[in-house]
Amino acid sequence: MEWIFKSTGEINHYNPHIHEGTQPIRVLNHMNVHMFINTHPNFAEELKKAINENGLSSKINIVFGETRIERTPYIRNDNKSIYLDETFLSYLWCICHTVWTVYIQEIDFPRCNSLNGKEVYKIDAQITEKAYDLFDYAKSLIVSYSKWDVDKMPNPEKYQAEYRDFIEQPNGFYTEAIKFILCHEYIHAIKHIDEINAGEYENSHFIEFEKEADYEAIELLKKGIFPNRINQIAVHVGITLGILSMLYFRPNTDAPRHPNTEDRLVVALNQLELSDDSPCWGIALIGMDLWAKQFDLGINWNTELNEKEAFEDFIAQIKAL
Ligand SMILES: [Zn+2]
Repeated sequence: MEWIFKSTGEINHYNPHIHEGTQPIRVLNHMNVHMFINTHPNFAEELKKAINENGLSSKINIVFGETRIERTPYIRNDNKSIYLDETFLSYLWCICHTVWTVYIQEIDFPRCNSLNGKEVYKIDAQITEKAYDLFDYAKSLIVSYSKWDVDKMPNPEKYQAEYRDFIEQPNGFYTEAIKFILCHEYIHAIKHIDEINAGEYENSHFIEFEKEADYEAIELLKKGIFPNRINQIAVHVGITLGILSMLYFRPNTDAPRHPNTEDRLVVALNQLELSDDSPCWGIALIGMDLWAKQFDLGINWNTELNEKEAFEDFIAQIKAL
């Protein structure tokens, strides 16, 4: 465990005896399960009940393979088993890294430095540049698979201790984003699948199920915020990033069986009862701005406004498209 105290040199978490898969995201797969089971203090009991009484599969399946993202996470209606595509997991980590890093380097550090009247936190153009490169890599995984270069690109498996904050902080948000995704599928398992299997439903009904799955999943994660709130920021940012990650597949946000992505985001951030100065507003703005630029949507981030107001203004511009 000496890696915990390292401040210089290489950290490499890969252990062929415990890490399955070929993509560097493999080092976090066990952590995802651990975090999910411990979503809140009584969640392990709830899960047991869901497995015994609702037929939820006790296995979370990772579909390993060097392929493009075949599917975003889903639960099968016939066996109530959750499936996660290995390449999707890589993609999600990359989104967490990019959005968080750009937020820190372009919003948070400059703000702290200007409040202090001097450079307390070093702005590093190279870190930001690599984060944008990693975003390009994430988007490329939607189209075709290529190897994640652990020697050149930020990744959770192998990195320099000097840059560990920009790896390990995103790790924390990534595992929370996965927790949110797994809880969403868990709600489908205990509340919706039997109904879906029993009858015919219009698409509008599926949208209600999706809204309920988001709402109940967020309530589960909120129950897991410790009384001292030490993990609150990770939970809030993880949920925000989990929803943002749905944006980069298409220029449109509508889908026949899901609410619009921007609506999911607005509802989630309201449900989290964020303070006006929560980092989630800025993070959501960074995430939406990356998407608007990706598809040339012509949406402008009004920097005269504070982040919460700019978020609302950005959403209004999406609605007016
Ligand atoms: Zn769903």
